[in-house]
Amino acid sequence: MYDYLVVGSGLYGAVFAHEAKKRNKKVIVIDKRGNVAGNVYTEKIAGINVHKYGAHIFHTNNKKVWDYVNEFAEFNRFTNSPIANYKGELYSLPFNMYTFNKMWGVTTPEEAAAKIEEQKKAAGISEPKNLEEQAISLVGTDIYEKLIKGYTQKQWGRPCTELPSFIIKRLPVRLTFDNNYFNALYQGIPIGGYTKMIENMLDKIEVRLGTDYLENRGELDKLADKVIYTGAIDAFYEYKLGTLEYRCVRFETELLDKPNFQGNAAVNYTDAETPWTRIIEHKWFEFGKDENGNDLPKTVISREYSSEWKPGDEPYYPVNDEKNSKLYEKYKALADKEEKVVFGGRLGEYKYYDMDQVIAAALQRSEEILG
Ligand code: UDP
Repeated sequence: MYDYLVVGSGLYGAVFAHEAKKRNKKVIVIDKRGNVAGNVYTEKIAGINVHKYGAHIFHTNNKKVWDYVNEFAEFNRFTNSPIANYKGELYSLPFNMYTFNKMWGVTTPEEAAAKIEEQKKAAGISEPKNLEEQAISLVGTDIYEKLIKGYTQKQWGRPCTELPSFIIKRLPVRLTFDNNYFNALYQGIPIGGYTKMIENMLDKIEVRLGTDYLENRGELDKLADKVIYTGAIDAFYEYKLGTLEYRCVRFETELLDKPNFQGNAAVNYTDAETPWTRIIEHKWFEFGKDENGNDLPKTVISREYSSEWKPGDEPYYPVNDEKNSKLYEKYKALADKEEKVVFGGRLGEYKYYDMDQVIAAALQRSEEILG
C-alpha cells in the first residue's frame, strides 16, 4: 500500500517523509504520541509556545540545512545566552570574557588566558582523558568547580571523570565579550513554534497518531515496502543484547501570574545541591511577545530535572560513554543487516545529535535511498 512507513514524527521522520513525498513516493507516518513533532513539540499555554520536551534553539553552520528549515518556517533572531547561577552568583555563558572577569577580575584576554594556563598547569594535565580533564584544560579549575562539575554530574548522573570529553567540547570558550552560546552562523526559533514547522513538513502526508509501532509491528510492517524507524534501536530488538542507557528529563512546568520570572530564557543552576539543572522561561524565546507583537502578561517556566532512564520512560539523551558505545555497535551490526528497515535520528542511531545534524542526516539518507 505504501512505499515507506515512517515510525516517529520528530525531525528525522518528518524530513524523510517530506523528501519521499516530494519524489512522489507513497508514505505514511505513525507516532505513538497524540501529536506530531517528537521532542521538538511546542504547546501553547497562555499565548506562549512552551517547549514541552526541553528547550530547542535552532542553530547551524550548514547553509543547506538552514535554507531547508526556512522552507517550512520563518525564524526569529533569538540568540541563546544562558546565565549560570552558582549559589546566587551569576555568570555569563558560554565561557567568555564576561565569565572570566566575574570569576577572576581579569580585564584582558591575555590575563584570562594566563589564568587558565596557570590552573591547567597546576592540575598537571597534558592530554585530557575524560570530561573533567578536558574541562580543566579548557577553562581552568575555578570554572570547572563552579560552572561545570555540579551541572554535569546532575545532568549525566555520573562523575565527570567517567564521561567522554566531547560533551564539554560542545561549549565554546572565547577570549571575547560574546555571550552567544553557539558558534553558529545561523540561529533562531521558528515563529509560531516547532510544531507548526513539522506540520508544514508533513503537509498532505498521511499521519496516524496514537499508533505504537513496536506493539503492532506485524500489522504495520505489512503496510509498506520499507520502514524508516526513528525510535530507540535497543527497543526495536526488544533489548535482546542489553539496554542502552539514556538520560531522561522531567519538567515541572508552572504558569505564573507575573510578566517576568528570571529575565532570560535559560538559567543553569550549576551547583550540585539544587535538584534541577536549569529553569527555562519560555516567553523569552520570542522576546516576551505574542504573534501580534503585544507583551504577554503572564509567564511559563519549566524546572528541568535529569534522571536515569528506565523502560517505560521517554529517552532523551543517549549516554555515549565507552560501555554504551560498544553495545550500540552490536545493535548497529544487526541493524545494518536489515533489508526492510532503516534506523535514523537521536534514538535510532544512539547519537547526541543537535537538530541541524538530525536534519542533515535525514537529508543525506533520503538522497541515498530515494535518489
Ligand atoms: N555544561 C556545564 N555547565 C553549564 C552548561 C553545560 O557543565 O552551565 C556541560 C554539561 O556537561 C552539558 C554539556 O556542557 O551536558 C553540554 O551542554 P549543552 O548546553 O550543549 O547541553 P544540552 O542543551 O544539549 O542539554
